[in-house]
Amino acid sequence: MKIIRLEPQGYCSGVKNALTMAYQAMENPDLPRPIYLLGSIIHNKTVIEDFKEKGAILLEEKGTSKTELLKKISKGTIIISAHGVSQEIYSLADQKGLKLIDTTCGNVRWIHKRIQQHLEEGYTCLYIGMKGHPECEGVLGISSSILLIESLEQAKFIKANPEKIYVTNQTTLSLYDTKQIYDYLATAYPNAILDNAICKATTIRQEACYTQERVDLCIVVGDKASSNTKKLALASQSVGIPTILVENVTDVQKLSLKQISSISITSGASTPSHVVEEIITYLEQEV
Ligand code: SF4
Repeated sequence: MKIIRLEPQGYCSGVKNALTMAYQAMENPDLPRPIYLLGSIIHNKTVIEDFKEKGAILLEEKGTSKTELLKKISKGTIIISAHGVSQEIYSLADQKGLKLIDTTCGNVRWIHKRIQQHLEEGYTCLYIGMKGHPECEGVLGISSSILLIESLEQAKFIKANPEKIYVTNQTTLSLYDTKQIYDYLATAYPNAILDNAICKATTIRQEACYTQERVDLCIVVGDKASSNTKKLALASQSVGIPTILVENVTDVQKLSLKQISSISITSGASTPSHVVEEIITYLEQEV
């Protein structure tokens, strides 16, 4: 069996930083207890379980906003995830006297800053993102005037002053889909300021999928809730390679690989390296 690792693998810098800060917080006896994770620190179930075992409490409930969840907390330390949060969360935590450990990725901070700046200058701000994703929700929390665009079709319905439009996006989107939207907006609004903010970690991983050599199967390793992981699977499929998204070696062990003689492996920016190594070891030894 030929196995090709698509590079890079392992955590991106934003995830590494978030985990370092969060683990340091768990070990710091001076921080007020309990310690809460306000949403999954990264989209990876194994990592979240590890934090829970160390005593962290996960504040996450489908259909309930971070603000509502935070309102129920009266003491302790809150760890903000790499995806970032809106200003409302900072204000609320401050009012309640909660200690904050803010692990927001620098790329996300930059987007918040740019949107804030352009809102103050009177621009209509458009944000290309995925409704419900924490990074998107954090950005939309900056102002109710920000217009969310989830698809090229939606972009065509935007009504705004063509002279003062600012556009940016979620960091983990598909390169291809996002380019299509930016291309349309550049033509429809030639004076718009377009800040494509797909981060480097997302870009290089997707490019590796788009340009990979022909294989029988591409295995994408990562959590099914991870946006950047799902986009890797789409990138690989888009070049005609049969692709499967798995979370761990157990998922791979269930696959029938008798007809497969070549496999490429990539992984999301929030996938621990050891999960990929376990899969490669299994494929090398068992198949
Ligand atoms: S995927 Fe990009 S934006 Fe998200 S944490 Fe990693 S480096 Fe930051």
